[in-house]
Amino acid sequence: MLVDLHTHTTSSDGIYTPRCLLEAANLNNIELLAITDHDTVNGYLEALDIQETMTRSPRLISGVEMGTQVGEASVHILGYHIDANNKALIDKLYELRNARETRLEKIIKKIRDLGYAIEIPQKDSSTRAVGRPHVAKALVEKGYFKDVQEAFDKLLKRGKPGYEPQPKLSPEEAVKLIHNAGGIAVLAHPSELENINLVRYLLQKIAFDGLEVYHPSADEFAQKTWLQISKEFNLMVSGGSDFHGVSGRFPEKLGLYKVLYENTKNVIEYKK
Ligand code: AMP
Ligand code: ZN
Ligand code: FE
Ligand code: FE
Repeated sequence: MLVDLHTHTTSSDGIYTPRCLLEAANLNNIELLAITDHDTVNGYLEALDIQETMTRSPRLISGVEMGTQVGEASVHILGYHIDANNKALIDKLYELRNARETRLEKIIKKIRDLGYAIEIPQKDSSTRAVGRPHVAKALVEKGYFKDVQEAFDKLLKRGKPGYEPQPKLSPEEAVKLIHNAGGIAVLAHPSELENINLVRYLLQKIAFDGLEVYHPSADEFAQKTWLQISKEFNLMVSGGSDFHGVSGRFPEKLGLYKVLYENTKNVIEYKK
């Protein structure tokens, strides 16, 4: 049975609306889906409503992806089985989305001074978690870059002239928010940290429940390493495609990267 525990929608920086994502899951025989938008559970809540109106739909579990900072490293944390109405979590996510809007203004101003004129309409933080991919898309539409990847590589990545840091949580804080909302915390795409010692350090120091062993950033060798580390630290094994619907970094189509229920069932079937 195919599942996908890491996907993004238009509620954050994905291209697919929650409805399109559910339909794409149906088309690709993905029977269980976690929508893990950056800093919001709104896409998940919308999908729950839409599901009611569909004759066939994947099973959904609640999810969120939170960005945290450890020194120079950007550490992403996935929360599953969270109570999507938990006040402390909802309030913090709203605050983080507000900070994203402020940062967007700063980025737009900064790159305008560098000669890139784009417009992204201001929106209410309750409707989206805006990020650099939105800026990248606007730059591509205006013809400044050939694709989102190039916009990141030349302008938006850390160290490039259009980079603007985002106020970030500590991993401890994010894990605590997830736990207090009844969920489990999974360290996302460890291969992207490009530092196995940092991964070990984080797993030792922070109360993670799981590790995202299966992710497009991990080749077969890396997968084996993460699987072994998950055993060593007694962690649940998770996996997902990190689908955004954007070409480049992650699979452009849902279903291209396959994750099996058997390999991730401890996360899926977790009960408090
Ligand atoms: P932000 O949340 O605004 O910092 O943007 C982070 C998001 O941008 C990530 O979740 C990815 O979806 C995307 N992203 C980050 N780095 C790159 C990159 N080098 N190329 C393309 N997309 C990227
Ligand atoms: Zn993203
Ligand atoms: Fe991530
Ligand atoms: Fe992601």
